Amino acid sequence: MYPKIDYDKCVGSLECYDVCPADVYDVEETEGGKRAKVARPDDCTECEQCTDSCPTDAIELVD
Ligand code: SF4
Repeated sequence: MYPKIDYDKCVGSLECYDVCPADVYDVEETEGGKRAKVARPDDCTECEQCTDSCPTDAIELVD
């Protein structure tokens, strides 16, 4: 499985980027600032630290 970000919920806290031990996320620039993006989904170990730490519950692990 790998993480999917719901950008309707994402507020760009970058918590997932900061917490992920497998370096799955990168940071990308947006008009309003920055947000995380899933750059290396195959590296996900399904530890769920990103889903647990997201302040707006914007991440789910999908197949
Ligand atoms: S579940 Fe764990 S390894 Fe996978 S993206 Fe989230 S923090 Fe990284």
